[in-house]
Amino acid sequence: MKALVLHAVGDLRYEDAPEPPLTPGSVRVRVAFCGVCGSDIPRIFVKGTYRFPTICGHEFAGTVEAVAPEVRGFAPGDRVAVFPLLWCGKCGACAERKYVQCENYDYYGSRRDGAFAERVVVPPRNLLKIPDGVRLEEAAMTEPAAVARHALRRVADRLDGRSVAIFGAGPIGLMVAQWARAMGAASVSLSDPIARKLDLARELGFDAGAPPERADVAVDAAGAPPALLAAMRAARRGGAVVLLGNPAGDLTLPSALWSQLMRREVSLHGVWNSDYGLEDDRDDWKAALEAMAAGRLRLRPLISHVVPLAEGVAVLRGMRDGRDFYSKVLIRP
Ligand SMILES: [Zn+2]
Ligand SMILES: [Zn+2]
Repeated sequence: MKALVLHAVGDLRYEDAPEPPLTPGSVRVRVAFCGVCGSDIPRIFVKGTYRFPTICGHEFAGTVEAVAPEVRGFAPGDRVAVFPLLWCGKCGACAERKYVQCENYDYYGSRRDGAFAERVVVPPRNLLKIPDGVRLEEAAMTEPAAVARHALRRVADRLDGRSVAIFGAGPIGLMVAQWARAMGAASVSLSDPIARKLDLARELGFDAGAPPERADVAVDAAGAPPALLAAMRAARRGGAVVLLGNPAGDLTLPSALWSQLMRREVSLHGVWNSDYGLEDDRDDWKAALEAMAAGRLRLRPLISHVVPLAEGVAVLRGMRDGRDFYSKVLIRP
């Protein structure tokens, strides 16, 4: 099969890779679309993966192509979204069904081969059927949509009728904004240094531009130190700051702002990934797919590029170099 294979930091090649074997108890998925995550750019060009060669890509959806004989509940042709974390099932976190906190996990696209490839083999417990009316390109964004929802659930009791300010108007920021509106926020604003991102936010019906003076909930959806500092400045008395973006560098916290966080009794919420595999509404994945089906989450406007796998190397380099305007980039193997 064809894949984007990372041989070393920055050494990404479009080439033939072995097909993953259909192991007992598993399902082979023909990848339809795999999104480029903000974390993929440093993973490919700066930090590398856990071993080489690796196929990156963890935000994906596709169609079931083959099912091992003992697997029940899935059949060829089923459209599926894939939870990309493989949990051990034995540690304390797994016992509490906090799979993303698993002490011994595996992960498509970083620890093991992912979906910048034509095929991936997945255990059925990591598959969710895509509801009718949700397209495969939208379903490929279930992971970031679930992460965005998870971030706001930490402050769910502070949203109804309140103000939310989001720092960073990339795909994840725009998803947080849509969830905030769906969860009852009275005002939602986004800020970002890139004007085109603000245009997109306005097209989706949000206030975008200069950050508001104060907000009940301030979300860093960028991971850049200036964005987190701006979020901390914006949180009003008794408000909350949500740390969602992956840190892009060290942060120096000015003592005056530090003091303000104390005086205003602002709470800081670290959030990580999403909840999956739960029976109730804590399951961010089911909720994300349901919200897409119901039209509460509009993800297609976030897609700026859909490129075939053969052009994947060029588009990933372009994203690294900031050559174009990028929002959600989907690779189509
Ligand atoms: Zn991601
Ligand atoms: Zn575990």
